[in-house]
Amino acid sequence: RTVYLNGDYLPETEARVSVFDRGFLMADGVYEVTSVLDGKLIDFAGHCVRLARSLSELEMKNPHSDAEWLAIHRELVARNGIVDGMVYLQVTRGNPGDRDFAYPGPETEPTVVLFTQSKPGLAENPAAKTGWKVISIPDIRWGRRDIKTVQLLYPSMGKMAAKKAGVDDSWFVEEGVVTEGTSNNAYIVKGNKIITRQLSNDILHGITRAAVLRFAVEAQMEVEERPFTIAEAQGADEAFITSASAFVMPVVEVDGKAVGAGKPGAVVTRLREIYLDEMRKAAV
Ligand code: PMP
Repeated sequence: RTVYLNGDYLPETEARVSVFDRGFLMADGVYEVTSVLDGKLIDFAGHCVRLARSLSELEMKNPHSDAEWLAIHRELVARNGIVDGMVYLQVTRGNPGDRDFAYPGPETEPTVVLFTQSKPGLAENPAAKTGWKVISIPDIRWGRRDIKTVQLLYPSMGKMAAKKAGVDDSWFVEEGVVTEGTSNNAYIVKGNKIITRQLSNDILHGITRAAVLRFAVEAQMEVEERPFTIAEAQGADEAFITSASAFVMPVVEVDGKAVGAGKPGAVVTRLREIYLDEMRKAAV
């Protein structure tokens, strides 16, 4: 596999990063994951906007223009022959010297890494036909979940808790209400209404979320942005999650209780179709 590191396209075995990089020592860095369908990038503009914001919140320079980011993504997709899959992008702060809690100066060059993962048939994921089961666990993450940092240990623990429980994912609960999934935004459906938590520093501002809510409104569905409880999810007609890699994924069981009929419902099935159709059309 060919990876990108600081301006070079290299075999993955030759890409080397300093052990003093603050990404490695302090999880001081941000990332984006862009899906590729039919060799094209899904919602690329959305990822660029969020990347710029994450970097700015951490007082890091954006090392590239959006056009340069696009060129790097395309080059890597082409070199690796990716048809369906994803491009992972990471910018860490680098580090010219010793380990220090204070950030190094703005002259410090960040470390830019991109790589691809091939996932043939990504959009035809059979899990979308059966849906995910989730459990709930306490949300003990930090208070700036709106910044997409590489500090992913607790989400990893949440995914492991799900695996150990024999389910697909965990939903985080804070002060009695759901924040989001380990790596996705969470929704319930009641009748024609889609309910999902409002944006704040408590959740990641999913770019799939933004697109799906727009499509829902265009399809005459009602959208209510507010928190919901696990009990409300268990009593809902349908539930689902969204993320750039899972797209729109039905959730059919929450903490051992079936949601609705216990299988993917009409609303989530329709939203997934609309999302994939529209995003394929707009792919670059
Ligand atoms: N919340 C969290 C915590 C995530 O990690 C992700 C995926 N990166 C999302 C939500 C979904 O965001 P997006 O739709 O932009 O992938």
